[in-house]
Amino acid sequence: MTGRASAPRPLLNRRLAQFGTTIFAEMSALAVRTGSINLGQGFPDTDGPEEIREAAVRALRDGRGNQYPPGPGVPELRAAVAAHQQGRYGLTYDPDTEVLVTAGATEAIAAALLALVEPGDEVIALEPYYDSYAACIAMAGGVRVPVTLRPGAGTGGEAAERGFGLDLDELRDAVTDRTRLILLNTPHNPTGTVLTPAELGTIAELAVERDLLVITDEVYEHLAFDGEHVPLASFPGMRERTVTISSAGKTFSFTGWKVGWVTASPELVSAVRSAKQFLTYVSAGPFQYAVAEALALPQEYFDTLRDDLRAKRDLLSAGLAAAGFRVHRPAGTYFVTTDIRPLGEDDGFAFCRALPERCGVVAIPNAVFYDHREQGAPYVRFAFCKRTEVLEDAVTRLKSLAS
Ligand code: PMP
Ligand code: GLN
Repeated sequence: MTGRASAPRPLLNRRLAQFGTTIFAEMSALAVRTGSINLGQGFPDTDGPEEIREAAVRALRDGRGNQYPPGPGVPELRAAVAAHQQGRYGLTYDPDTEVLVTAGATEAIAAALLALVEPGDEVIALEPYYDSYAACIAMAGGVRVPVTLRPGAGTGGEAAERGFGLDLDELRDAVTDRTRLILLNTPHNPTGTVLTPAELGTIAELAVERDLLVITDEVYEHLAFDGEHVPLASFPGMRERTVTISSAGKTFSFTGWKVGWVTASPELVSAVRSAKQFLTYVSAGPFQYAVAEALALPQEYFDTLRDDLRAKRDLLSAGLAAAGFRVHRPAGTYFVTTDIRPLGEDDGFAFCRALPERCGVVAIPNAVFYDHREQGAPYVRFAFCKRTEVLEDAVTRLKSLAS
C-alpha cells in the first residue's frame, strides 16, 4: 500500500452541494421547536374553500384519479386551465397540446429548465429569486445570471416607489450571446413587486430582439393588490416564446396538494413534458379534478381572496412599521420585505435566528435568495397569509423590539 489516503469523495454532487437545506424547512422547524408564530414559510393557516375540499373527497370516493392520470393531466383540468387563461386574459391555449399539469409550480420550473437549458447556457433570474430557481438552474447545468431588484428602482407607480423595482437597463445589459432564457416571476416572491405593463412590454421587446425564451412564474397571479397582473405571454411576439407557470397552492389555499400547470406553445409544452415525464410522470390524480372545479369558481371568490390578503398586508405592514422596521410595501404576493437597519441590525440571518427567542416570531432572511448575499443581508421577509388574530398577536410580539 502506498500513497496518501485521499479525502473521501462527498456524497452530494457538486451541482447541489452549495444549496443545503431549504430555508423554509429550517425556519418552519425552528417555529415548531420554539412554539413561535410562523411568518416564515408561505402557507395559509386556513384551508381553501370547503366545496373544493369536498370535490377532492368526491373524486377520491368515486375513484377518479386514484390510478395514474394521463401524462399531460386530466382533461377536465387542462380544459379548466385553458378556460381560465381565455376568460381572464384573453389568451387562447389548446387544452390538448398547449397545457401541461405538473406537481406544483415547483416541478414545472424544474422541468422547464431541465428541458430548455443546455449545460453552459446563461439563465437570467431576478434577484432575490425563489430558492428553487437557483437549484434547478444548477441541476440543468445552466449558469445563473442575477439581475437585482432594488428599492426605488423601476418604473412602477406610487406604490412601487416604496417597494422593490427592476432596472430595465441592467436587465438589457445582462443579456449576452450565451443567454438562453429569462426566468421571470411576477408578482414577485419575496419582494412583492408586480411588474407593470410598461416593464413587461420592454422585457417582451428584449426577448424578441435577442431571440430569448422566457419562463414566467405567475403563481401569485391572483394576488396583485396594487395594479393588475398582466401575463407576459399576452405581449406581442411572446406567446410562442413564453412558458407560463402557475399553480393552485396560492390561489386556492391548498399548498399541500401540489397541483401546478404550464401553458405554452405545443413545441414548448412538448419539450417541458419530455423532462416532466421522468420526474414524477404524474401526480395528485383526485386533486386535479378538484382544482378543475376551483378554477371555475365565480369571480367573487378571487376578489374576496385578494381583498382579504390586501387587508392583512396592511395590518402586518403597519405593525412592522410601528415595531421599527422599514417596510417595503408589496404590490402583490403574500409576503412583505422589511429592512432591519432602522432597528440597529444589519444581518438578517442572525436576526431571524434570534427572533423566536426575542419575541416568538419566525421570519425568513432574504439573503438566501441572493447571489450577492451582501445586498440581501438587511432584508427580512414576513408572510401575512395567516388569520387576522395570528397577525395581531405577531404584531404585539414584534412591538417589543421597538422598546
Ligand atoms: N414559485 C414561487 C414564486 C413560489 O413562491 C412558490 C411557493 N409557493 C412556488 C413557485 C412553488 O409553488 P408550488 O407549491 O405550486 O410548487
Ligand atoms: N413558496 C413558499 C415560500 O416562499 C414556500 C414553499 C416551500 O416551502 N418550498 O415561503
